[in-house]
Amino acid sequence: IARNPGEPEFHQAVREVAESLAPHIVASPILQKMKVLERIAEPERVIIFRVPWLNDKGEIEINRGYRIQMNSAIGPYKGGIRFHPSVNLSILKFLAFEQTFKNSLTTLPMGGGKGGSDFNPKGKSDNEVMRFCQSFMTELQRHIGQDTDVPAGDIGVGGREIGFMFGQYKRLRDEFTGTLTGKGRDWGGSPLRPEATGYGTCYFAQEMLATRNDSFEGKTVCISGSGNVAQYACQKATELGAKVVTLSDSSGYIHDPEGISPEKLEYVMELKNIFRGRIKEYAEKYPSATYYPGERPWGVKCDIAMPCATQNELNGDEAQALVDNGCICVAEGANMPSTPEAIRIFQQHKLLYAPGKAANAGGVATSGLEMTQNSIRLTWSPEEVDAKLKSIMQNIHSVCVHYGTQPDGYINYVVGANIGGFMKVANAMLAQGCV
Ligand code: NDP
Repeated sequence: IARNPGEPEFHQAVREVAESLAPHIVASPILQKMKVLERIAEPERVIIFRVPWLNDKGEIEINRGYRIQMNSAIGPYKGGIRFHPSVNLSILKFLAFEQTFKNSLTTLPMGGGKGGSDFNPKGKSDNEVMRFCQSFMTELQRHIGQDTDVPAGDIGVGGREIGFMFGQYKRLRDEFTGTLTGKGRDWGGSPLRPEATGYGTCYFAQEMLATRNDSFEGKTVCISGSGNVAQYACQKATELGAKVVTLSDSSGYIHDPEGISPEKLEYVMELKNIFRGRIKEYAEKYPSATYYPGERPWGVKCDIAMPCATQNELNGDEAQALVDNGCICVAEGANMPSTPEAIRIFQQHKLLYAPGKAANAGGVATSGLEMTQNSIRLTWSPEEVDAKLKSIMQNIHSVCVHYGTQPDGYINYVVGANIGGFMKVANAMLAQGCV
């Protein structure tokens, strides 16, 4: 804490992992002697840079850019880029730290990284977003590469932003390689990458429910967020027989007791991805829905909750409300959306609870599959990618069960994911010496 002042999210993420690993580390003289956890908690490299760009009025604006190259023990740094006004060193370090374990869990050879900027794409024209992305990549390009560091999307960075950044990378480096993932299907993107995080979270939840002979069929689901992860979690949960009744954004949430049908979801996708509108417009279009400004959806009665917006978006009181309303399963599509207090309540009440680093790993796993397709210069069919994604999620679930099953039979997915993710990285670091 003394070395990283003013970084509460990073402290929160490291503390959670350290607590899970403590018995393991206490029992292992080599992990202690080689200071593996201490080394993992220190980024290999942090790059901070100025991003100047011209707005549509011809004025200069200045943002701050970051890339955290956290850990390369098992592969090139890999992790998304976030554009959001809240972005700071603490948030990106927590994300890069979590990413290291998540990537390890996928079984693919990817190290951990994360990057972004405090740039706010909301309300900016396409030209402004393009000029910002080009300026951001003008500096970032010297630090990344297909064998070094492979960024992807995250909050505020979707297909449009990846396109602008890839175009600038290609122009400056004169190479067409898989240095960014989340690319368009016609220019190196993998089938199913946009869907992968939301779908993967549902596949993981399916596995969790199966441990209690249960499924999505007939369940009511609350989802937060209405961006990439939320949209495809909604689509897959509905396909699997559930009724999704909420979506949200940073201004409020909608509750549609009739369920968000595929047609209604199509409207949400158009609203959010093309017109960049607000979720309240859903309630204006569909009278079955009510809009709750300034609130989060966790007071709505549901069987399954899927937080898919941002970190610390579900607190202890909200966790208690979910428990009181009979919720049986919480699968995190977002990174660290539940506060430590919320996690304690879920686990105390023996809910099926999966942290993002396990449940949402399908996104980066499919990015890993995109890297492979780029390297072999082939594109697989959507069915092939989906089958691989499903099998990766099932495998991560098995790892969590292996390391996380408690003496009373309860599966502690936090412990399972932390130990499972840590072991591979730790062993690689031990093998590679004092690096
Ligand atoms: P998007 O930008 O597509 O969507 C983010 C959604 O969350 C929007 O609805 C946004 O609302 C809402 N949101 C963002 N910040 C806040 C906030 N501070 N309070 C309330 N709501 C907020 O991002 P993604 O869907 O890609 O990412 C969502 C989460 O999933 C993040 O935690 C991300 O790290 C994680 N994730 C994403 C992956 C991916 O493949 N995209 C992979 C793994 C994890 P608004 O429009 O009002 O800002």
